[in-house]
Amino acid sequence: MSELLFGTAGTPHSTKKMSTADGIERIAELGLGCMEMEFVRRANMGESTARVVAEMAARTGVRLSAHAPYYINLNAREPEKVRASQERLLQTAMIASWCGARSVVFHPAFYLGDPPEQVYRMVKKHLEEVLEQLKRENIQVWIRPELMGRGTQFGSLEELLDLSLELEMVAPCIDFAHYHARDGRNNSYDEFISILSRIEERLGRNALDDIHIHVSGIAYGGKGEIKHLNMEESDFQYVEFVRALKDFDVKGLVICESPNLEGDALLLQSTYHDLG
Ligand SMILES: [Zn+2]
Repeated sequence: MSELLFGTAGTPHSTKKMSTADGIERIAELGLGCMEMEFVRRANMGESTARVVAEMAARTGVRLSAHAPYYINLNAREPEKVRASQERLLQTAMIASWCGARSVVFHPAFYLGDPPEQVYRMVKKHLEEVLEQLKRENIQVWIRPELMGRGTQFGSLEELLDLSLELEMVAPCIDFAHYHARDGRNNSYDEFISILSRIEERLGRNALDDIHIHVSGIAYGGKGEIKHLNMEESDFQYVEFVRALKDFDVKGLVICESPNLEGDALLLQSTYHDLG
């Protein structure tokens, strides 16, 4: 990627008709650069709709990513639940590739009380099967497990970096709000810089030249994430956050998941550009 783009998780609120193509057009009108398609309940877009979406994205220059359904647990006890999870990921990846999206984000697994190393092995094994299938079908998208915000959820920074190192076409989705919500830390310039340094140290500079970020204001408690908030209603240090991205010359997509979507996406973008 040649620059850092800002956009929304799903169709902006100010879109007149709520179709994905209309959402992309609205992103361009707002002067934003990207949009994540939210298939969080199910991935059910047909190929002809996806082609319309791809055309709109190409015409406007808006970059796309896709979020797979929430109902995924690559550490499920029941083999049929693992298979259904893999199917949801495959289906989202197929739609993403029809749409011209380069990345699919997903929530990998729950620990269910298992030792983290064991969960890691299960997630890796089941993810590998998905990657093999994608390769067979010649579907080329980045599969991005997301940094999660609760202690019960697999997806710490180190787990994601390990998976990204071990598996081809896997890269992390760095959710800075989730990371902050885990224990209330990771909310200062120095901490943001240390996260970015850690990514570079383990995955190389390429990972920072094609990063995928989720961010929003967030409410949290002892167990981590409670809910997303708008930036100004939260304690998230977004000015320091964008300053760290700028100083590190990070490139890629920043997807804003605040309830006001384009409100905070525009706030982050203008804060970023005002830094000069
Ligand atoms: Zn997510």
